[in-house]
Amino acid sequence: MSKVAHYLQEHLLGEVMTSADARRHFATDNSIFTLAPSIVVYPRNENDVRKTARFAWQLAERGRMIPITARGSGTDMTGAAIGNGIIMAFPAHMNRIVELDSKSGIITMEPGLNYGRAQQTLHTHERFLPAYPASIEYSTIGGAVANNAAGHKSIKYGVTGDYVKSLRVVLANGEVIETKRLHKREFNKKLGLTTFEGEIYRSVDKLIEEHKEVIEKGYPSVAYNTAGYNLAGIKLKDGSFDLTPLFVGSQGTLGIVTEITSETEAYNPETIVFAAFFDEVQKACDASKKLRDLAQRPSAIEFVDGNLLRKVQELNPNQLKEVLPGTMPGAALIIEVDDPADRQRKKTLKHIRKILEEYSVETKEESDPHEIGKLWKIRHATATLLSHSNKEVKPLPLIEDAIVPVDKLYELITATYALCKTLQLEVALWGPIGEGNLHLYPFLNLSEIGDRQKAFKLMDEYYSLVTKLGGSISAQHNDGRLRGPYLSTLYSPEVIAIFEALKKIFDPYEIMNPGVKVSATKENVRSLLRNSYSLGHLYNHMPRS
Ligand SMILES: Cc1cc2nc3c(=O)[nH]c(=O)nc-3n(C[C@H](O)[C@H](O)[C@H](O)COP(=O)(O)OP(=O)(O)OC[C@H]3O[C@@H](n4cnc5c(N)ncnc54)[C@H](O)[C@@H]3O)c2cc1C
Repeated sequence: MSKVAHYLQEHLLGEVMTSADARRHFATDNSIFTLAPSIVVYPRNENDVRKTARFAWQLAERGRMIPITARGSGTDMTGAAIGNGIIMAFPAHMNRIVELDSKSGIITMEPGLNYGRAQQTLHTHERFLPAYPASIEYSTIGGAVANNAAGHKSIKYGVTGDYVKSLRVVLANGEVIETKRLHKREFNKKLGLTTFEGEIYRSVDKLIEEHKEVIEKGYPSVAYNTAGYNLAGIKLKDGSFDLTPLFVGSQGTLGIVTEITSETEAYNPETIVFAAFFDEVQKACDASKKLRDLAQRPSAIEFVDGNLLRKVQELNPNQLKEVLPGTMPGAALIIEVDDPADRQRKKTLKHIRKILEEYSVETKEESDPHEIGKLWKIRHATATLLSHSNKEVKPLPLIEDAIVPVDKLYELITATYALCKTLQLEVALWGPIGEGNLHLYPFLNLSEIGDRQKAFKLMDEYYSLVTKLGGSISAQHNDGRLRGPYLSTLYSPEVIAIFEALKKIFDPYEIMNPGVKVSATKENVRSLLRNSYSLGHLYNHMPRS
């Protein structure tokens, strides 16, 4: 055990591990990269997090770098949950609901809390966290906040950050702060602090004031954007100030979250679901735009293209037998309505039926939970595709999460088909296209040099395309190491310089998850590419003491 690990073991309540087994486990997340940590820490409480950060800061002051990567369940698709220093694994101990006010629905949670568990508890109080990701069963609340996760209900309810009210955060030097929206007077008090916290408030305020116009015009106009840092929501016109939106979606690069207080929504388990089958993708795109424009939006508009349906049919002919029409469609939409009020629900359903009739599509409409489950199978069939592999040729998360303005969606889809055809790649598309967000996993063999080169060519071309269409390279899954190098394709040099300055304010010694977001380069990430891809790490790895 190294001196650093030994020191930490002596001073922390939580376990410290350096075994080859633990290091191997934490060397991968859900991305195409691998990077082994030197130490794994399982903090028992905030004090453990604070002490670890303080120690890393003191070492950095003496020129010795040992970075910290906070980690939930490691389902991150971008290589943001791996790092070569200390992995701080939260699910082992810091996994509790601290407080739940069943009247207001406000919930305070530790970051390592399993998202599915939080949701189950909330359901018993008729509440829920609506921006839950599809990985809800495995992932943590801390990971969702750090990625600003979104899910199929986000079209109606928004993203994780829309619900986070306040955070407790351990800063790079070990100081603990509490963020929330501060009124002008409270903010002025913070500006007067002589601590690192005070320095952060002063420097961020100065950065925002000096670059107001660049910040106002610098972001793409899309429904979800996790690319870079969110500087737009910090200082409002009324003079109030909140660092929370900066930490949300920052992938542990600005500080480590130790407590999250979030609002929730009223939960209605009774839904009505449509499956609509279109002969052409374009018609599905048009219809989804009309559905999105409804005064009361559906709670999901999910898309699956014909390629995916055909592929699933090939792999498992029984899987969708009951739900697909006789002729294979060009695309399918799954539309969900969860309005609790009878009158409103009837109105929404009437509008949806009318829109679908315009396209004379074959439609199924269900309100029985068992039958609803069958319709959702169409969307969940992506899992069959993702778990399929032909020897080493595997579907990979490379360009899986771009978003464009909805009126550019069809252009993105046709250009994506064309690009994949040129590169001779199999492609199937799906996702919450109601907001212009498209998911796809091209099939590649990472052990082949040709395919490794193809992966980067594909990313280069795809991200230029998305940027030209006015979109963002990262909608729900964030940048990490994967898309960090492409931030300069999306943003102007002025915006990139602001992001870099911001990172320096919070993390002058590059302790907080370096190599992720702004500090990622193509050269760095090339060397981290795995030779073969699997999701083997998704079992629980807990300390054995
Ligand atoms: C099958 C599958 C489906 C998915 N579907 C979705 C989806 O629908 N929507 C979506 O948004 N994402 C999705 N994802 C991506 C990912 O699952 C989510 O973003 C999830 O919220 C990450 O949670 P986690 O606990 O696994 O975090 P991790 O992967 O462990 O970490 C994610 C990021 O959060 C940081 N982090 C974790 N804890 C803290 C902390 N306490 N303080 C500071 N930073 C921290 C990490 O450093 C890392 O940068 C999916 C992934 C998979 C495998």
